[in-house]
Amino acid sequence: MSDCIFCKISSGELGTEFLYEDEDLVIFKDRNPKAQTHLLAVPKKHIDSIADMEDSHTHLIGKLFLACKKIADKLKLKGYNLHVNVGKEGGQEVFHIHVHLLSKF
Ligand code: 5GP
Ligand code: ZN
Repeated sequence: MSDCIFCKISSGELGTEFLYEDEDLVIFKDRNPKAQTHLLAVPKKHIDSIADMEDSHTHLIGKLFLACKKIADKLKLKGYNLHVNVGKEGGQEVFHIHVHLLSKF
């Protein structure tokens, strides 16, 4: 998806600083943080939404959550929230799957 901002970010095209990266996903800071720590975990593969998730995506989505746990451990966050908006009516603005990691720490 050439006009997708999270495709551009996750491919490294925009030079965004990644707090975590592996072959399947990246984690970077939300540009409009709603908590002391507000990160976004984003797969490199474009999938519009959890509403479009298929069985073949199970491993990737599992990795997305595991990466959130790993970065939270690395940052020594005592507690945090993982949040996924699904669909326009569910508050989703960027249609490329992402998990919000929010923490007051
Ligand atoms: P959604 O409402 O789709 O779940 O959340 C999209 C999030 O992406 C918002 O919290 C917004 O601040 C963040 N965001 C949108 N565009 C950019 C961008 O270009 N860079 C970064 N770092 N965050 C973005
Ligand atoms: Zn995309």
